[in-house]
Amino acid sequence: PVVADIHFDWRIALRCMDFPIAKIRINPGNIGAEWKVREVAVKAMDKGIPIRIGINGGSLPKDLAQKHDTVEAALKAAEREIEVLESMRFGDIVVSLKMNEPDEVIRANEAFAACYPYPMHLGVTEAGPLVAGIVRNTAALVPLLKKGIGATIRVSLSDSMEQEVIAGKEILGCTGKSARGVRIVSCPRCGRASFDTHAFTSRWMHRLYGIDVDISVAVMGCVVNGPGEARHADLGITGAGNSVLIFKHGEIIRKIDARDADTAFQEELEKLLKEKAK
Ligand code: SF4
Repeated sequence: PVVADIHFDWRIALRCMDFPIAKIRINPGNIGAEWKVREVAVKAMDKGIPIRIGINGGSLPKDLAQKHDTVEAALKAAEREIEVLESMRFGDIVVSLKMNEPDEVIRANEAFAACYPYPMHLGVTEAGPLVAGIVRNTAALVPLLKKGIGATIRVSLSDSMEQEVIAGKEILGCTGKSARGVRIVSCPRCGRASFDTHAFTSRWMHRLYGIDVDISVAVMGCVVNGPGEARHADLGITGAGNSVLIFKHGEIIRKIDARDADTAFQEELEKLLKEKAK
C-alpha cells in the first residue's frame, strides 16, 4: 500500500487522492490554515481515504512550540487537528507523534493513547545511523508495543530500506507481534569459534530475511557448544576444524568440507522449507 506523505502544500494532498492511495499523511506543523485541512478532509471522506495526522518534533506548529515543551506541543498539535476533523464528522484518523528522543516518543504516545481511541503509527524521527538508530527505535517502540500502543511502525535509519525492514521485524519479534519469517541466532566473536560466523551471516542475511516461513536458523562458531546452545534452531551450521557441520534441532546431520558450506547449507535450507510447506 502507498501512503502519500504530504508537507507544506495541501493541493498536493488533494491531487494524490486522485490515485488509489491507502492513506494520506499531513503534517500540522506545515500544512497551513485550517481551511486547507478541511479541504483535504472533504476529499478524503469522499474517497474513503484515512488521514494520518503526522506530528514531528522537528516541525511542530510554531505557536505551540513557543509555549510548550516538545511532548506537550506535539499533543496539543494533534488535539487541535483532531478537533477540526471531528467537527466535520471525519473519524478515519491515524495519529503519529514522532520525536528524536526515545523517552519523548514514549511519553507522547502513552499520553495520547490514554485519551484517544485512534490507531497510532509509531516511530522515532531522524533516529540516526544503523546501530544508534536501531537502539533508539528499539528503546522507544518496544515498551509502547508491549503496552498495546501502536498499530503500525516505521523504523527510520540513515541506512537502506532493507535494514529498516529487518530492524522493524526484529523489533516486532521482541514484542511477540512478529510478522512471519526467519529468526537468526548467531555467535559473537569468541575464542572458541572455528567458523567465520560473521562472514557467513552477512552472506546469508538478506536471503534468510526474505523467507516468509517461521523458522529459526543458527550460525554457530564451535562444535563444542554450537548445536547444544542452538538446539531450538530448526537448522544450524557450525565449523569443526576444516570441516563444517550442519545440524537440525540440535542433531548433527551432515559433515562437509568448509569450502562446500554455502552449497550444503542451501540444500538443507531448501529441504527444510519444503518440509515446512507440507
Ligand atoms: S557456540 Fe562456541 S563459538 Fe559460539 S559463543 Fe558459544 S562457545 Fe563461543
